Amino acid sequence: MNRQIAFIGKMASKDQDAWLAAIRPLLVDAAIIPYEEISPEQRMNIEVAIVANPDPKDLATLPALRWVQSLWAGVERLVVELPKVNFDIVRMIDPNLASTMAEAVLAWTYYLHRDMPKYLFQQKHKIWQQGDLRELKDRNIGILGLGQLGRAAVEKLLLNGFNVSGWSRRLSNMEGVKCFAGMDQLADILAKSDILICLLPLTAETHGLLNDKRLRLLPTGASIINFSRGQIIDQDALLRHLENAHLDHAVLDVFETEPLPMTSALWDSPKITVLPHISAPTNTRTASEIVARNLMTYFETGKIPESISRPRGY
Ligand code: NAP
Repeated sequence: MNRQIAFIGKMASKDQDAWLAAIRPLLVDAAIIPYEEISPEQRMNIEVAIVANPDPKDLATLPALRWVQSLWAGVERLVVELPKVNFDIVRMIDPNLASTMAEAVLAWTYYLHRDMPKYLFQQKHKIWQQGDLRELKDRNIGILGLGQLGRAAVEKLLLNGFNVSGWSRRLSNMEGVKCFAGMDQLADILAKSDILICLLPLTAETHGLLNDKRLRLLPTGASIINFSRGQIIDQDALLRHLENAHLDHAVLDVFETEPLPMTSALWDSPKITVLPHISAPTNTRTASEIVARNLMTYFETGKIPESISRPRGY
C-alpha cells in the first residue's frame, strides 16, 4: 500500500513542525508530507491526509484521497465546506481530550455552583454579603450532548454529587442520569437545568438551537456553560436574558468569531465569563498516538476508522 500521507493544516509553521515532530517517529514506515512539499506525482496517489482546518481547495487537488484524519474533535467546517467530496472524515476521538473537557466542566460548574462570579463582583465593590449555600444534590445540571465529551462530563459531575440530566439525539441510557432525547424533549431538560452545559457538535440542526424562545424555558436564575461552538447559542438573546436577570451567568469558551472581537459586548458584561477557547485543548502527544494508530491500522488492513455521518453532520 502507498504509505504517503499529506499533512494539510492552517496553522503557524512552528505548530505544524511540532505536530510533524510528534507524529513522524510513530509512523516510521510512512512519509508524512506537508502539503506545500507534495510533488505532482504524489498528488495523484495520496489516499490519506492528516488535516487541521484545511483549505478545501487543497483537498480537492488530491483525486485519490479516501479519508482524512482531523486533528480536532469538531469537524463542522469540513462538513460545510466540503459537502460534495467522497472521502471519509475521521475526527479526533481521544479519551485524554474527554477527560480534559470533563475536568473543565467540573471546574466551571463549581465556579457557578459556589457563586464565584458574584463574590468577585462583591469584592470589586467592597460588598460584604453572604449568600445561601445550595447542596450539590439540589443543583440540577443539564448536559446537551452525550457523546465522547458529554458522557465523560456526566460521570465527573455524578461522582461529585451533582444531580445530572442529559439530552441527545437518540435516547441514551446512563446510570444515575435522567436522559432526554430529540427536539420533543428539549423543553423538558431546559426547564429543569439550573446550570445548562452545551457539548453539542455544530450542525445544521444545532445551529442557533438555543435561541430566545428556548432560553426562555430555563428556570429563572439559571446559568449556562458553552464549551462546544458559539453558533449554537443566539448571543444577542443570551445577553438580553442575562441583562433582564432571567439568567444569572454565562461561561463562554467559544464564540461565533474567534478571537472574540474587541468590539463585542460580551467582553464587558459582568454576567459573562469569557474564556479564550481553552476548555479542552488537543494534546499533541496523545492525539498523535491516536492518529498513528488509525493510520497504521489502515496501512495494514485497509480499514478506515469510524468516520462521521455526512447526513447527520457529526
Ligand atoms: P460526539 O461524540 O459526536 O457527541 C455529540 C453528542 O451530541 C451526541 O450525544 C449526539 O447525540 C448529540 N447531538 C448531536 N446532534 C444533536 C441534535 N440535533 N439533537 C440532540 N443531540 C444531538 O461529539 P463530542 O466528541 O462529544 O464533541 C462535541 C463537540 O465539542 C465537538 O463537536 C466540538 O464542537 C466541541 N469541542 C470543543 C472543544 C473546546 O475546547 N471548546 C474541544 C473539543 C471539542 P447521539 O448520542 O444521539 O448521537
